[in-house]
Amino acid sequence: MKTSTIAVQIGVGKDATGAMSFPIYQNATFRHPALGQSTGYDYSRSGNPTRRVLEEGIAQLDGGVRGFAYASGMAAIANLLLLFKQGDHLVVTEDLYGGTFRIIDKVFARQGLEATYVDTSDANRVAEAIRENTRAVLLEVPTNPLLKVADIRKIGDIAKDRRILTIVDNTFLTPYLMRPLDLGADVVVYSATKFISGHNDVLAGLVVVKEEELGKQVYFLQNSIGAVLGPQDCWLTIRGLKTLSVRIDRQLENAKTIAEWLSRHAGVTRVYYPGLETDPSHRLLGEQARGFGAMVSFEVAEKRIAEEVLRKVKLISFAESLGGVESLITFPAFQTHADMEPAERERMGINDRLLRLSVGIEDAGDLLADLEQAISGWEANV
Ligand SMILES: *Cc1c(COP(=O)(O)O)cnc(C)c1O
Repeated sequence: MKTSTIAVQIGVGKDATGAMSFPIYQNATFRHPALGQSTGYDYSRSGNPTRRVLEEGIAQLDGGVRGFAYASGMAAIANLLLLFKQGDHLVVTEDLYGGTFRIIDKVFARQGLEATYVDTSDANRVAEAIRENTRAVLLEVPTNPLLKVADIRKIGDIAKDRRILTIVDNTFLTPYLMRPLDLGADVVVYSATKFISGHNDVLAGLVVVKEEELGKQVYFLQNSIGAVLGPQDCWLTIRGLKTLSVRIDRQLENAKTIAEWLSRHAGVTRVYYPGLETDPSHRLLGEQARGFGAMVSFEVAEKRIAEEVLRKVKLISFAESLGGVESLITFPAFQTHADMEPAERERMGINDRLLRLSVGIEDAGDLLADLEQAISGWEANV
């Protein structure tokens, strides 16, 4: 079955009452039939029916053996990082989500976890950064906010040779557009807050693993730590997933229109969107994914122009986050990536002229009109 069909059918036929919408089991504990017997549920941290439907659903969507739902994307990532111990080393995408950088650099570093940040769009740099104590490669594909693309097949092979894990944060593409486990990754992680739930109304994180043995370890940590997704939020995430394919199809179409329009605009100095044929990642992402995503980053000539654009947009909201049905715009250097050293940020290209759009499902003409009134008038400065 295709991912669009699997997503719509999540939970259908799973409840004894025949409920089309799988119920919210708002419940902490479960009565035991007798000593030594269980209905399959004992206590909701260990397992909850609504959460299970979501966890099985995402596992099926990604072609993995087991899925896990967490209270947020960061809770999911924290859980994965706890697979490692003091003295272990990770190779990590350099321009990754600011919160992931922060938890590795400021929280897990204190526990003795080491990390090297590299441009993972160059597989050779990944290979060079692997050391004796390296335990995993953590990739974001495409990266945030520069939308660079790592070759998951190639890096997965390198990692397998060295017997280390390949973990892919697939938040930007979702299983509808890319299935990292099919490409050779061992683990996929999501901020389901973004495209997966899709409505800017819930925080959630998901993990899918390819092998049962790793699944047991992740489950042990999920149950030990307890940062699980509550039943109500599981239900919202399931409901979001049902419309994943139609939302994303529309978002892809809008993103392409906007990226092409921006690349022709005299007030815009640079556009980052892998869907543009001129983008350095176009070919590689085309081989790995069924679509290029709905994130578009662009540069204007000066910081004050970027500030002006943020002030002038009306339909597009100046807000953090991404992936929802409403279009949003952010200023990465001052928001999502504020925890990085300014010089380091600048070197990578996350400068004070770079804006990032998360393209929603509004009418493309209305979005272009909003951008036009916000950007126009600055052409002379370019
Ligand atoms: C938002 C995001 C996260 C963190 O997820 P939360 O749900 O906000 O905790 C991790 N990775 C990426 C790529 C993200 O966009």
